[in-house]
Amino acid sequence: MTDKPQTRGIGMTSQRTRDRLIERLRAQGITSAAVLDAIRSVPRHLFVDEALASRAYEDTALPIGNNQTISQPYIVARMSESILRAEKHDKVLEIGTGSGYQTAILARLFKRVYSIERIRTLYEQTAKLLHKMQVANISLRCADGYKGLPHVAPFDAIIITAAPPDLPLVLLEQLAPGGCMVVPVGAHGSQKLLRLTRQGNQFKEELLDYVSFVPMLTGRG
Ligand code: SAH
Repeated sequence: MTDKPQTRGIGMTSQRTRDRLIERLRAQGITSAAVLDAIRSVPRHLFVDEALASRAYEDTALPIGNNQTISQPYIVARMSESILRAEKHDKVLEIGTGSGYQTAILARLFKRVYSIERIRTLYEQTAKLLHKMQVANISLRCADGYKGLPHVAPFDAIIITAAPPDLPLVLLEQLAPGGCMVVPVGAHGSQKLLRLTRQGNQFKEELLDYVSFVPMLTGRG
């Protein structure tokens, strides 16, 4: 990532403000040094509208247009930390690129990130931003994430940042043995954040938290 003044940030986007966010995440129970480092170094203010930049290091979700939101830093940290439990960290699949913030964090934790977004305008905007920020180890697609990427599978980890009504079985099949999926499942208002770990053809399921994500929709937007 480049180190231009815009990337470093000033005032409410300065390194000090970012360090305070890291302290808050630590206090909330995030322990992975790799995840905390990634959050410290990825400039979240560049992923939101300029008018909202001063709020980028608050621990809150923010609008990114097209009725979608950039996830709350705590949730990004929690989900990233939970898939690091996977046996290998080579290939990760993200469903719901959105602003690209989670994608940029994953790019620091995995060798290669594949990310799918269904809304074309978001996909184009984010592809441009991540290119400008020189995040190189990522492949972005505009498609329906429910299908995954069978020709690239299996993945060491899969992270779903929109909520399907039920467990997405097609995607679970694209998980490598020893791999982990983190996914918010359920209707709005009563979603469970689950981690599924593949052990042979069985999946171990763990409840991580209760969350509120935008719905995972079918087809292209
Ligand atoms: N990770 C994003 C979160 C964006 S919100 C960020 O940090 O900004 C969830 C995103 O999932 C939205 O952009 C939405 O358009 C996308 N989405 C919903 N259903 C999808 C599907 N079936 N395939 C791909 N993307 C989907």
